[in-house]
Amino acid sequence: MSVERLKRIVESNREQRERDEDRTRAEREREREISDAPEFAFWPFFCGKCRLDFEAVGHKGVNRAYSEPIAWYEAKCPKCRKRLVRRITDRSFDPYWHESRKVNEDRMRMAKDLLQPGDRGFDMAYPEHRRRIEAELERNERDQYDRERAERKFIR
Ligand SMILES: [Zn+2]
Repeated sequence: MSVERLKRIVESNREQRERDEDRTRAEREREREISDAPEFAFWPFFCGKCRLDFEAVGHKGVNRAYSEPIAWYEAKCPKCRKRLVRRITDRSFDPYWHESRKVNEDRMRMAKDLLQPGDRGFDMAYPEHRRRIEAELERNERDQYDRERAERKFIR
């Protein structure tokens, strides 16, 4: 067997081992996420039907029927009694984050606070501020122009 071929085999074995380690690490983290979550927890929920944000004691649910176990908290809407779910695993994919009115309002408020002059959306949110900035820029330009003229005069 050539050295090159041997090297390739060793390399591919190493890659496979790393992939296995990554997978078991992810599995362990997932299991920890599930076992760390208490059976009952006070949690924010959103009912899309009632357009209602509310907090309630959620009951943990776990399903191991899939290749990766999933866990969630569930509670019932106080108005329509619909069963609502918040994800414990895959939290970033929880639809709550884009459905909740409260989250969206917070996000909009934060975006407004983070807006910088020149950002898209800034002019609409702060027309007065925008006018002040423009006036300031104009004044700077005028000063610069005056200075340059004064310097030219001085050189002559
Ligand atoms: Zn409801």
